Amino acid sequence: MEKVVIVGTGPAGLTAAIYAARADFNPVVIEGMQPGGQLTTTTDIENYPGFVDGIDGFTLMQTMKDQAVRFNTKFIMDEVVSTDFSGRPLKLTLGGGDVIEAETVIIATGASAIYLDMESVRELTGRGVSACATCDGAFYRDVPVAVVGGGDTAAEEALFLARMSSKVYMIHRRDKLRASQIMADRVLANEKIEVVWDSVIDEVLDVDKNEVTGLRLKNVKTGEISELAVTGLFMGIGHHPNTDAFAGQVELDEQGFIVASNTKTNVAGVFAAGDVQDHTYKQAITAAGTGCMAALEAIGYLESLD
Ligand code: NDP
Repeated sequence: MEKVVIVGTGPAGLTAAIYAARADFNPVVIEGMQPGGQLTTTTDIENYPGFVDGIDGFTLMQTMKDQAVRFNTKFIMDEVVSTDFSGRPLKLTLGGGDVIEAETVIIATGASAIYLDMESVRELTGRGVSACATCDGAFYRDVPVAVVGGGDTAAEEALFLARMSSKVYMIHRRDKLRASQIMADRVLANEKIEVVWDSVIDEVLDVDKNEVTGLRLKNVKTGEISELAVTGLFMGIGHHPNTDAFAGQVELDEQGFIVASNTKTNVAGVFAAGDVQDHTYKQAITAAGTGCMAALEAIGYLESLD
């Protein structure tokens, strides 16, 4: 049986691993379907302390992983598909069928991009609809694209795409950006980015051609319908927590986030860290901080058993 099993490899999971490993608990980390988590799909991170000139997300996560490996963390390339926390040991079933038994579990599965709930979006995902400009932006060199949303994610996607695409339309349903001031200022100052205010996407065109040729937009104030020619559409409308494998096993709130108090869930020995339990801050540094807290709580719990 494992002492500490950590689910997820974003800043929360890897920080938890570094702390548990340095305390000689030989943690096992289940990598998940997106090793490194959301930061691997972002560009420069300018607000993680310690990097004067910023650092790219992939490098930051690889460095954290190397640090965890250095202290004897074991990584398993699989995902947790279900859990049973009803008794002891705690049980986690992996996609490959293996069942891992654990004394403590730290859930750090993060959150995933939300896609607009539209048939045309589902049909064209991977064919012009994406949620990751750093992954797919290079396909849209010198062509017009659109980003939906008005928060920091949308701003970051738009700024990245503006480096290569001929024009970036930012479709926002209100008349004010939600993004932080510094990001909003950069968007509004960028000559390639045009914010389409007070507008929602009515349809992505063209499912029949199996590629994105444009968007049908609706102005929410005037009701006016218009069309915009773009060949790519990027989601920037937020994220939902990755808690499917834990439903019914730990307490979740109405939005699916794990309910945790100082990383402690309602199940003894099960802790949660990072975006999977965070409605508010959702920053790499806060994820790392709660990863540290979860590991310290898990260590305290294991010591209390002895
Ligand atoms: P947010 O919830 O902050 O923003 C989501 C945006 O999408 C809002 O503008 C919202 O509109 C819009 N939206 C939501 N649902 C829909 C819909 N169905 N149709 C159209 N528009 C929709 O999410 P983010 O992912 O942008 O940011 C989450 C957190 O992560 C924030 O705390 C942010 O600061 C942080 N973050 C920080 C970054 C950085 O520091 N560089 C980078 C990325 C994220 P409305 O405004 O009307 O609600």
